[in-house]
Parts: sequence; structure tokens; C-alpha cells
Amino acid sequence: MQTRILQINEDSLNESRKIIMNGGAVAFPTETVYGLGANAYDNTAVENIFKIKGRPCDNPLIVHVHNEYDILSLVSYVPEYAKLLAKAYLPGPLTMVYKSNGKVSPAVSCGLDTLAIRVPSHKEAQKFLKYIDLPIAAPSANVSKHVSPVTAEHVFSDLDGRIEIILDGGKCEGGIESTVVDCTSDIPLILRSGLITREMIARVVGDCGEYSVKEGEKVRSPGMKYKHYSPLCRTMLFDYNEKKRAEEKYAECILEGVNAYILCDDATAKSIKAEKVLNLGKTETEIASNLYFKLREGENIAELIIAIAPEKQDGVMAGVMNRLTKACKN
Ligand code: AMP
Ligand code: MG
Repeated sequence: MQTRILQINEDSLNESRKIIMNGGAVAFPTETVYGLGANAYDNTAVENIFKIKGRPCDNPLIVHVHNEYDILSLVSYVPEYAKLLAKAYLPGPLTMVYKSNGKVSPAVSCGLDTLAIRVPSHKEAQKFLKYIDLPIAAPSANVSKHVSPVTAEHVFSDLDGRIEIILDGGKCEGGIESTVVDCTSDIPLILRSGLITREMIARVVGDCGEYSVKEGEKVRSPGMKYKHYSPLCRTMLFDYNEKKRAEEKYAECILEGVNAYILCDDATAKSIKAEKVLNLGKTETEIASNLYFKLREGENIAELIIAIAPEKQDGVMAGVMNRLTKACKN
């Protein structure tokens, strides 16, 4: 199969619709990362997404809808706090998990009785979703476990030959996946951190929990248990207060002829003794936006990425740290 990167216009949207109606998958941009979308009602199409990505069958997908879509046609109950969150942050990088009414393919949620729904704010994503006017099940458009794609070229390098069309919307500004919030209990529970932070959620609904997997307990959001977001080269991660050790490791690599790069924020980049640096930028939104871009750049030029965690680790940086830790897991 030949894979084409297409600008988003009437022709490419029309072609995308045909592919999706025939049970195929199309890659499309969102404000977080690129998604690989298929008709959520079509069991074979959804199962095919898992095959294309090599994604484990117990890691459920998020259903994407346009901003006029009636989500009550997909779920059995929406708590009051979820309505407040939707009003404050949708469309945007926030996924909410509801009790499903069982209408979409059971493959979307991997047999769970819940359904994750997201309304992206990206203009072209909205256009695509409106044009198709179906709930679109879409994970990130990368090979499973690899770094999520934030450009059409990233998608191409992972999925060339496996899908027909990549809709090109340029670089995704957000840069990390949506915040996932479980809305099936008395208070919202963050399952995955992202650009809509815990503080932002608590501001709207008063109370908000954060889920962490406990030893021996069944995971609530299966995607959380996997090594993820990983570049193809070797990686190491140092804490902010271990900068000296990272610097020593880098120097050791240079002596031994290992092509190492330091990955860090701008403040660390300015203070560290290293020539080869992948600079994530200054502000927390900049750092999130550049994280996957720089990890992908790094895997193409480095044998080893020596990452140094940012000093601040709450707010948006909680999401960045979650990805960085998983990316550098051995
Ligand atoms: P990705 O599509 O790669 O961004 O991953 C989707 C994320 O949403 C994973 O972490 C999943 O575990 C999570 N997710 C999707 N559906 C559900 C659900 N029904 N319940 C809990 N988590 C979900
Ligand atoms: Mg993913």
C-alpha cells in the first residue's frame, strides 16, 4: 500500500471519508498529537487499528467527535461535574471517560464498560470529524510504544505502507497526549496527566483525584502500565538535582566515542557543560510542545539520549514527566 501525505481540503476529506466508510483508517492532526482514526461503530475497522500499530489488545482507544456531536448517543450517564469540565475546557486536550451505552464496537474499550471521549479543538481535526460525522476511534498514529507523532512526517516514518492517507496539519502545538479523566465516580479522577492540569480541573469542580497504579491492583487505565513514547536509541534519565552526574556521563560518552546528546530545558541547557544538546525550550507549554519532536530528532542523530528532568514538576510538567519517565524506562 502506498502512503500519501495530503493537505486538508475537499478532495482529501472526501477520500478520507471513503476510506473510513470502507473500514479503513486515516491519520489526522489534532492539537495534541496525530491520531489514527477509524469508524468506532465498525468492529473490524477498530480491530485493524490495533493491528496497524501493533498495539496490545487491552489498551483501549479514545473516541473523537466534533463539537456539535451529541455524546449522549454514546454514553449512559454524564455527571454534573463532567458537564462543568466540558463547558470549561471543550473542545480541547481533555478526554473524559464515561459509562458506555454499548453502541460503539466493544473493541474500542477492549471490553471495559466505559468509553473515553474527546472533542479536539484543532481546526482541521474539527473539519475532518464534521466531514465524517461519525465517532472516530483514534489512538496516536505511531507504532505501539514508539514516540507519539507530532508531524505528518513522523506518522509517515512509522506507518508508511500500512495506511493510505495522512492528513497534514503541520506540527501539533500541544505536543503531548490529552489529559484523561475518569468521570464515572463521585469526583473526577485523572488517569493520565496532560495540558489540562489537575489545578485547572480542581478550579472548576473543586475536587479532583489522581490515579496511580497500586501493586497487585487491576489497572483502571490499561495504557498506563506500558513502556511508552520511547525513542529507538538508548536513553537515560537523571533528576534535576543529578545534573552533575548527567554531565559526567556525557563527558564519559564523548571520551569513549559514544554519540550522546543531553535532552533538557533551556535553563539547564544554558548551565550544562555539553556541546550536543536537545533543548526543549523555556516555558512549560514550550517544553511539552517540543518533547516528542526532540525525542524523535534525538533518535535520528544520537546513540544515547541523556535526559535531565526539569526542576518544576507540577502543572503541565506533571504530564511531561510522566512521558519522559516512560520514554526512558528500560
Ligand atoms: P492513546 O490513544 O495512545 O493516547 O492512549 C489512550 C489512553 O486512554 C490510554 O492511556 C488508555 O488507557 C486511555 N483510555 C482509553 N479508553 C479508556 C477507558 N475506557 N477507560 C480508561 N482509560 C481509557
Ligand atoms: Mg499512544
